[in-house]
Amino acid sequence: MIKSEGYFVEVGKIYKGINEIENVGNDEVLVKIEVCGLCRTDLHILDGEIPFTKYPIIPGHQIIGRVLQKGENVENIDVGNRVGIYWLYSSCQNCEYCRRGKENLCDKAEFTGCTVHGGFQELIVAKKDYFVKIPDFYDNYEAAPLMCAGIIGYRAFYFVKDFDSIGIYGFGSAGHIIAQVALSLDKKVLAFIKREDKDTANLAYNLGCKVYYSDEVIEEKHWGSIIFAPVGELVKFALQNTKKGGIVVCGGIHMSDIPPLKYEWLWNERILMSVANVTRKDAIDFWDLISQIYRDKKNKIKLDLDIFKIDEFEKVIEKYRKGQTKKSVVFEMKIV
Ligand SMILES: [Zn+2]
Ligand SMILES: [Zn+2]
Repeated sequence: MIKSEGYFVEVGKIYKGINEIENVGNDEVLVKIEVCGLCRTDLHILDGEIPFTKYPIIPGHQIIGRVLQKGENVENIDVGNRVGIYWLYSSCQNCEYCRRGKENLCDKAEFTGCTVHGGFQELIVAKKDYFVKIPDFYDNYEAAPLMCAGIIGYRAFYFVKDFDSIGIYGFGSAGHIIAQVALSLDKKVLAFIKREDKDTANLAYNLGCKVYYSDEVIEEKHWGSIIFAPVGELVKFALQNTKKGGIVVCGGIHMSDIPPLKYEWLWNERILMSVANVTRKDAIDFWDLISQIYRDKKNKIKLDLDIFKIDEFEKVIEKYRKGQTKKSVVFEMKIV
């Protein structure tokens, strides 16, 4: 039995406890967690807004750590290597969704920090094909937010990646990462930001985005829209700002109700869709893409980042909720 201390969550409640890890299987690795990023989904879990959560749960799905031990069938990594573990913990690899390359929709999928214990603890067991090796040019702090905000952001981006103009609604952790990916690929990026949020407007502008208010219907229509903010109201504006034949992707796991829409906003072959979860391929493709961008242009994703010690967990969650932190928040996982 391996003991791992961590932060458990039930609806509205956080407490420290011990996760007892039974054993490490032949197809699994044991990872010592070095850092774990905080995601809005962790807040939704704390607030009881993700219905398939298995409480009590240790949240956290943006995990960077080192392999301490590996099962005998694990050939894709060595002990001591640095790995990143993300939202998709496992999938059945056999159902109709998995067979169609949509394991993100698998009914038997497990999700890190939601249906199995996640990253706000000392150790975690991961399945052999469900982690990525982290390249040296991203340090732990930079790499952690990329494991969800980056990868799930990439899944949303994937559906609009062939367009040359992209609007981003909700410029948080995922928004500011994907804006940089799009800009590195020479796309025009329009950032739609809450009126009162001057700091975020400046951040977006300095990255090279054109900045607009999030409740604005603008003249300059764009092809693809990604809505990262959990605000249904934004669908109305995104549809009106999207060109004929364009696509609006809702990237969040949870969103407030979408208000009634006029058919004329959708008309002319606009597509409104959501993305859910991620596949192993998304994780690999995202890391390949940012590695390629680094090799070709020496461009690294610059993170607007706050780093905290894990014993500040509860305090930081409330600051994050109130928008009093930087866009990405990462915890160092030395439990005291
Ligand atoms: Zn996340
Ligand atoms: Zn499946």
